[in-house]
Amino acid sequence: MRELVKLYKAVKDQDSEKMLSYLKSGSLYFSPDYPLQYITANCKFRLASEVSAKLQDVSPILSDQCDGTNFSTEWVARSILSAMYAMFYMDMLKGVAVRECRNPTCRECFTVNLNDKREARKIYCSHSCVAAVTQREYRKKKRAEKEVQP
Ligand SMILES: [Zn+2]
Repeated sequence: MRELVKLYKAVKDQDSEKMLSYLKSGSLYFSPDYPLQYITANCKFRLASEVSAKLQDVSPILSDQCDGTNFSTEWVARSILSAMYAMFYMDMLKGVAVRECRNPTCRECFTVNLNDKREARKIYCSHSCVAAVTQREYRKKKRAEKEVQP
């Protein structure tokens, strides 16, 4: 677990030397000449798969122990280590929000990185939803204009 936390910090700090030393401990060959983006992507893949594997012994539970009509969440873990991985998982997701797409015909859930100012403003899940809503509003405006004209 300590190694994963170190790797996570190296990814966050974009420390290519530390990321490479982690990747080299695996069986694949990684050169310091590789682009930082490529090294980062590989480290993120390892982090995601290793942390996900440890989350199998942890599950969320919907709790009714909350005020009024609200619900909250509780976590159940089979071991202290798996509880630590659950905490690590939640730390890794800090600054990430789940949103529902504002396109009424989509309503898909997507995640946004709140630390990225541009991404934090996202209200649609994809470019095609942005285009669909824009098109719909354009047609609505055109129709309204036609009705006004004699
Ligand atoms: Zn959408």
